[in-house]
Amino acid sequence: MGRKPMTFWEKLYIPVIAKGMLITFGHMFRKKATISYPEQTRTFSPVFRGVQILNRDEEGRECCTACGLCAVACPAEAITMEAAERLPGEEHLYREEKYAARYEINMLRCIFCGLCEEACPKDAVYLSETLVPANFNRESFVYGKEEMLIPHPLTDPEGFAKARGEKRG
Ligand code: SF4
Ligand code: SF4
Repeated sequence: MGRKPMTFWEKLYIPVIAKGMLITFGHMFRKKATISYPEQTRTFSPVFRGVQILNRDEEGRECCTACGLCAVACPAEAITMEAAERLPGEEHLYREEKYAARYEINMLRCIFCGLCEEACPKDAVYLSETLVPANFNRESFVYGKEEMLIPHPLTDPEGFAKARGEKRG
C-alpha cells in the first residue's frame, strides 16, 4: 500500500515542530508528578503498611509469646521463629512464660498484607509507617529481633513513644 503524499504544510515541518514545542513548554508550567526523594517525602496513605515492628509493653518486656500464629497466617511464609521458656529472673525481659528466642521476617518475601498483625493475640507485631530501606545485599533483608524490636521505654522513652505512635489503628 502506497503512502499518502505529504501536503505542503507537512513538507515544511515547522508547524509540527511548533506544535511539539508548545506541548513541551506547556508541561514546564504544570505541577510536577515527581518529587526529589529522599529530601522530599510524600504523606503516606492511612492504609500504608511498612516494616514490621515487635512490640514491648510499658515496662519494656517483649510481648511476643512465640505462639506461631503470625507465621501460620503469613501467606508468603516469610516468618520464622524459635520459642524458648522464660527462666526465673527473666520476668523483666519477657512478658509471657514463652518467648521468641529467634524471630525473623524475610522482607523479600513479605507482601505487607498485614495478616501477621491481625493474627497476633498479644499485640506483639504490627506494621509501621517505615519503609524497608534499599540494599544490594539479600541477607540484609532478613530482619531479626534486633532490627524489629521497638526501643526500650526506660532507656529510650522518646523512641518507644515514637514507635508506638507509628502503630496503625
Ligand atoms: S505482612 Fe503479610 S506477608 Fe508480610 S510477614 Fe506479615 S503476614 Fe507475612
Ligand atoms: S508475634 Fe504474636 S502471633 Fe507471632 S508468635 Fe509472637 S505472639 Fe504469636
